[in-house]
Amino acid sequence: MTGYQPNLAFLRDLGIELSMDEVSKPTYNEENYETNVKGIYLAGVICGGMNTHRLFIENSREHAEKILIDISRKIKH
Ligand SMILES: Cc1cc2nc3c(=O)[nH]c(=O)nc-3n(C[C@H](O)[C@H](O)[C@H](O)COP(=O)(O)OP(=O)(O)OC[C@H]3O[C@@H](n4cnc5c(N)ncnc54)[C@H](O)[C@@H]3O)c2cc1C
Repeated sequence: MTGYQPNLAFLRDLGIELSMDEVSKPTYNEENYETNVKGIYLAGVICGGMNTHRLFIENSREHAEKILIDISRKIKH
């Protein structure tokens, strides 16, 4: 969807902090993609906030794997 803008208000409503600049980058741990709200993870283009042109299939496909590794590690402990 060319021109797509992410629904950042939805993230804000969930309590996810966004950067104060025009990018509105969500706050998440770069290692496991968990946001500042425990148990809520972000994957894909939304991780870039308004910078939707920075993340593509090639460089965001590993997000899900990292999230699942983190969740399974937490379930085991
Ligand atoms: C024109 C164009 C060409 C591209 N070409 C390439 C390319 O050649 N190679 C490449 O690697 N990448 C390309 N990309 C980028 C690629 O499409 C994206 O990186 C990828 O689709 C992002 O996947 P995603 O799952 O993060 O987001 P999306 O694919 O946008 O998926 C998000 C999904 O969430 C749904 N959704 C949103 N809000 C809600 C809600 N409240 N409840 C339920 N569902 C909701 C949406 O309907 C959507 O289906 C291109 C993008 C565009 C626009």
